[in-house]
Amino acid sequence: MTTTLVASDLDRTLIYSAAALDLTVPDAEAPRLLCVEVYERRPLSYLTETAAALLTDLAARAVFVPATTRTREQYRRIHLPGPPPRFAVCANGGHLLVDGVPDRDWQRTVAARLAEGCAPLDEVHAHLVRAADPAWLLRERTAEDLFAYLVVERALLPDGWIEELTAWADGRGWSVSLQGRKVYAVPKPLTKSAAVAEVRRRTGATEVLAAGDSLLDADLLLAADRAWRPGHGELAATDFRAPQVTALTERGAAAGERILRAFHEAVREGDGVRGTLA
Ligand SMILES: [Mg+2]
Repeated sequence: MTTTLVASDLDRTLIYSAAALDLTVPDAEAPRLLCVEVYERRPLSYLTETAAALLTDLAARAVFVPATTRTREQYRRIHLPGPPPRFAVCANGGHLLVDGVPDRDWQRTVAARLAEGCAPLDEVHAHLVRAADPAWLLRERTAEDLFAYLVVERALLPDGWIEELTAWADGRGWSVSLQGRKVYAVPKPLTKSAAVAEVRRRTGATEVLAAGDSLLDADLLLAADRAWRPGHGELAATDFRAPQVTALTERGAAAGERILRAFHEAVREGDGVRGTLA
């Protein structure tokens, strides 16, 4: 019996803000959208109705694990279609929710790994704030006492600033990722793939499928048996490739739909069922 684990990034992989939808068809032909996140009483994140149906069906056929850099609080705002996932990875692997409850054993494992191999959060956070220019810095935050991020006016970021920050962070065991308006600094041992490996161990899954759009998803894609990335995002911009990773050309919400279709086809192949969804 095959148990397939489907671990997917959420933002700009499965769910999209209005600005990230990248709809290309005329308004009269635009897909109907389901809002899955409300923030400060306003709709924030969407997927297409077709994607919603695919996700609901997928969750019945596989162990679907959202794997996000969002904090637990930010993740809890999202209400995906289908049954609530049994496992969810938040804070880029820093927290593993089991039936919605943070797993204490996993927290201890993560804390031990971080204590060993990288500079403390305070040092990195202070550097981030110092290096940023108030002309384009909108907000600065630490998340879950694990990592830090800036919200920036992206068009005003000086050329080479991200590269310089990346080099500084690298020597301290941290990585940097630019996603939309956010600049993340994340300890290298804090990965989605490590948390997903733990879920694989607990579920005894025989196969792992994955998808993601940013540099913080690269390890997740590389650790999977098969993976997909959209035609937009950091991985597309850097032409990220690996034998098991399919580089899609679709962008925006269409990529989200395409990824869910690919998951479906792979799960059905694993079950020995021929044919594809329309
Ligand atoms: Mg993403």
